[in-house]
Order: sequence, then C-alpha cells, then structure tokens
Amino acid sequence: MKRSILLVLLAACSRNPHPASVPSGGGNVIAITHVNVIPMTSDTVLGDMTVIVRGERIEAIGRAGRTAVPAGARVIDGRGRYLIPGLVDAHIHLSNRADIDSVVAAVLLAKGVTTAIELGGMGLPGDSARLQLRTAINAGHRPGPTLYIARAQANDSTMTREGGMRRVEQDHAAGYDLMKVYNRLSVEGYRGITLRAHQLGMPVVGHVVRPAGLEATLGSGQRGIVHMEEFLYQYFGFRSSDTLTAQDAKLDTAVVSYFARITAEAGTYVTPTFVTYQAMIAHAEDLDRELARPEVRYIPATLYNAAWIREKNERSLMFAHPRRLHHLRAGLHYQRLLLQAMHREGVPLLVGTDAPVAGAVPGFSVHHELQNLVELGLSPYEALSAGTRNAAAYLRKDDFGTVEAGRRADLLLLSSNPLDDIRNTRAIAGVMARGRWFDEGALAALLARSAR
Ligand SMILES: [Zn+2]
Repeated sequence: MKRSILLVLLAACSRNPHPASVPSGGGNVIAITHVNVIPMTSDTVLGDMTVIVRGERIEAIGRAGRTAVPAGARVIDGRGRYLIPGLVDAHIHLSNRADIDSVVAAVLLAKGVTTAIELGGMGLPGDSARLQLRTAINAGHRPGPTLYIARAQANDSTMTREGGMRRVEQDHAAGYDLMKVYNRLSVEGYRGITLRAHQLGMPVVGHVVRPAGLEATLGSGQRGIVHMEEFLYQYFGFRSSDTLTAQDAKLDTAVVSYFARITAEAGTYVTPTFVTYQAMIAHAEDLDRELARPEVRYIPATLYNAAWIREKNERSLMFAHPRRLHHLRAGLHYQRLLLQAMHREGVPLLVGTDAPVAGAVPGFSVHHELQNLVELGLSPYEALSAGTRNAAAYLRKDDFGTVEAGRRADLLLLSSNPLDDIRNTRAIAGVMARGRWFDEGALAALLARSAR
C-alpha cells in the first residue's frame, strides 16, 4: 500500500462501524452430520462423517454411524456437502479505522476466510486498533477471521543493529505476531531484526531487503517472501514503471531454476500474490470494466474513493503508458515461470492477496488466487494446502489449517467438491469461525451490510 493513499485516507471522513453480527453461543455444541470431510492431512475425501464442535474447538470426527451426537447439540445436515478447513489469506492490510477494517473482516469471513495475516497497517495512526479488532473477533464480538498482525513494515535505511533489535522487542511486547521487512531497510537494521526475532520466536516476513540482496534474504531465516515480483526487482533491477529501457530483456529465464532451487533449499515460503499483480494489468487495460465487477461494492466507500476510482487509482494512472504495461505483462510471464519452477522444487506456497489494495477485494480474491495456482499446474489439493495448512506451518501454529480433533473450529462447508474443481471453493453453504456457525442466510446478511 502506497503512502499517498494513506494520507488521503487520513483526511477522509469517518462513518460509524457496522454493528456487530456474530451468532451467539460460542460455548455450544454443534454437530455437522453425514458430511464429506476433506481434512487436508492428505489428498482424500472421508465420506459420511460426523464432526462434533464444542466451543471453539473440533472435539471429534468419526464415521456418522459410529459417532454419537451429544444431547442438546445443534445439528447441521452435511449430506452431499464437503467440509474443508477455513481458508487463510496470508497477505492482507488493515487500516486502523473501524469503518474500513470491520467491513474487510466481515467480507473475508463471508467468503470463507477464517484466518488472515495482516502485514502492516496502512500507516494510519492508532496501531492498536488492529489489536483491538483481533481481540473483539476472538471474543465473538465482531465477525471476522482470526488475525495475526505485523505492526508496520520496517523500512528505515538508517536503522542500526541495536535499533532493529529494539524494534522487535517493542513489537513483541505490544502483542504483534510477526515482523514485516521492506525494501529499503538497512543491512544492519535487518540483521538486528532477524537476530532478535529469531531469539523471540517471531516470524520475519516481507519483501526482499534490497541492500541485503536476495541470497542474504533467503539465508537469514526470513520465513517468507511476499510478492513473487520481489524476485525480479532486486536481482534484475527490473522496473515496470520505466518508460525507456527494454526491461523485459533483463528477465533472464536461465535464472528461473536457480531462484527456485535456492528458495526451496532455504525453506522460505513464497506468497505469490498474483491477484494484485494481475489487477495492475487489468486496471491499466480497462478500469471501467474492473470497477463494474459486482464484488467491488464490498470495498468500503472511504477506501474506494481514496484509491480505486480513476482519479486516485495509482495503477491505472501509472500503467496507462503502453511501455509500462508491456513491462508488467513481461513481469507476469516471468513470475508464472518462476511459480511453476518453485512448485516443481517443492517451495512451500501460500495464498495471499494484498486485499484491500486496489484490485483485490477481500475474500473474493482468495478464491481467484486459488484458481491462479491451479491454472499454473498445482493440483486442487496443492492449491488448497497453500490456502489452509501451509499457513499454519508458516506461523508454526498447530491449531488451524486442517480438519482434525483439537483444531480451532474454523470450517468451510461447500456444496460441491473443490478437489474436482477448485472453483467449487466459491460454492459456500456455511462458514464456522471459532465454533460460531454462519449459515447461508447469515453470510448473505454480512455481505448485504458490508456493501457500499
Ligand atoms: Zn502488501
């Protein structure tokens, strides 16, 4: 998210947050019966199962005929339906403004996203507003995904090693979950951050720190690189905004397999975030077409007017130049080759969208990214892994990402099998978040309240 957008947001007028709308009874027992479970522990479907949820946790899973439904449990008939773990968006941004963030959270949930990794607020004051939203969601006072939050990107070119260590200590003490590093961070600041974060067990994720370079980023223990295009920028000095030079000539395809191999060997997670890169191209090609997409009405008005409309849309303004648009397309082609090579090498992949930056509608973009991954050669199971269990491993959490007893009751009920066709993740019949059940009517109401 660019700074100019943030300043406009700062000046924009405020409006009341949406009223809370979370089903009550977080301590109740719910049984989903006769359902096909895709547990995401292996590429399999378990037919005719019953899943018992007690409070926020999955208590038991078993064959429907042999699993007793506790007395008093609410029963949800899962016949003919498919139960998968709730989806994870590993790359979102919140604003610290309740009117924006409550809508983003509600729309994510309505589209089956039960966990989201927030990579640094949009720079607005009041950092702790995101932590308060996290608390309110966890307590069931607001509808939304479980959030893991980075305070703000570390991007100070003069940061010392001590400064980097202090920054990690402050963020950790304040209750943030991970550190986000950005392009201009100094090498010494990066060393301080990665060292102290390692000591405190905080994941470091983000861009390639340009002064350190790609190889040092991979060697630092940085848990993840967000945006596939990061591989192009630092290494090749690729700049899609350049209107003069032949940028695509810089993109040496002989390097693709090297990138994939060193990333796999480092065990670094990659969040390609193709939807946002594709949106830059789409917004430059035909902004009216893109803004007319029905899901765009779920972008809060303040944000829409600050960053999506033609006069404020940085992407459509910058990439209207044919030379720049040509560079973008060349960059996307290269990134697709890179994704395919990384998949072959076994690089762990994540589904992330950068929502709600221009072009990425919360929730809707997750389903689009899953489809992107399948179109590039992942099986539906591999793509779903990127959108569920891989994210738990990325954060070194063992309480979400699969349908197993003991896990958080974050579940997505689908009317058709996503292993047959990944687009079936959109056939949502219900969402459970921390044991709270949202049926189709509740999800429709969440969306209706969130529309601009
Ligand atoms: Zn981002």
